[in-house]
Amino acid sequence: MRSEASASTVANKKLAVIGDPISHSLSPALHKFFIDRFHLPFSYEARRVTAQDLPNFLREAKSSGYRGFNVTIPHKQAILPLLDELSETADAIGAANTVIIEDGAAIGENTDVSGFLSMIRLAAVDLSRREVLVIGAGGAARAVIFALQQAGVSRIFVCNRSPQRLQQCASWMSTTLAKKWEAWSWDELEEMVKNQKPEIIINATSIGMHPNIEQSPLSAAFFSPAMTVVDLVYNPLLTRLLRDASQAGARIVHGLNMLIMQGVAAMELWSGKQLDIEAKLPEFQKILVEKTQR
Ligand code: NAP
Repeated sequence: MRSEASASTVANKKLAVIGDPISHSLSPALHKFFIDRFHLPFSYEARRVTAQDLPNFLREAKSSGYRGFNVTIPHKQAILPLLDELSETADAIGAANTVIIEDGAAIGENTDVSGFLSMIRLAAVDLSRREVLVIGAGGAARAVIFALQQAGVSRIFVCNRSPQRLQQCASWMSTTLAKKWEAWSWDELEEMVKNQKPEIIINATSIGMHPNIEQSPLSAAFFSPAMTVVDLVYNPLLTRLLRDASQAGARIVHGLNMLIMQGVAAMELWSGKQLDIEAKLPEFQKILVEKTQR
């Protein structure tokens, strides 16, 4: 799904990110950068919207000049039944992080999938025919798993701490994935890495995120120079997982470019304009890192 609108013809100018809590969100900084640098005709604000207020906010967004909004914790799944239409991706994953208002209708999209694939492309990592371990089974993990299938990996291993969430993810994979996949329990993680030797390991949990910066899902002994290790966490940029993997000679990819590129994808849908962000990435990464350190 892609909006046909061009920046000059977009009538609705308001954008927002909604969640509860919302004060920690980097989305306003992200989108204000795009609005400023690409001269886009939008305003962008953070709005605290409780679960109870979600239907009211949606009515307001459809009737009072909103072009769209981002959705964050805890509404990414809860918003789905309130929307008029879903992209194939949002429908398949069961979560939306972006909503576009088009002729009074609210359309849900999930740009974490393209954000993840752009991050991988920018890091020049080849996913095709690779065996990949995804640690985590929440919303981000599902977006990553869906993206891995699109990128042509050969097998996906998923490991998660809570058996219940692992089971829910396994049921979802059995109906959504055509690729080979396996679900592993948390206490089997190290044995799994030792025996199956996945070529790419992706952390899609919040382990290692500020303030728990010394935590890692896997101890240093399990990394090798043949591996690529990706962490979706972007605060800090170099998590314990990535530091250990790098010391063992593995290639590492941090999560900041995924954050940026999922935002680019959302802004492209709202504006109808292609944003040539790559030359601006270093400047933008610096701004975001400074924000996370405040
Ligand atoms: P979520 O749906 O709440 O899922 C959280 C996941 O983390 C679950 O698998 C949970 O396992 C696991 N987890 C949390 N604390 C853990 C711990 N101490 N030990 C083991 N597992 C733990 O959240 P999400 O939306 O998937 O986000 C997950 C992470 O990805 C967050 O850090 C988020 O910031 C990051 N993310 C980054 C981007 C980006 O653009 N770079 C985009 C989306 C998400 P249980 O089931 O056992 O609770």
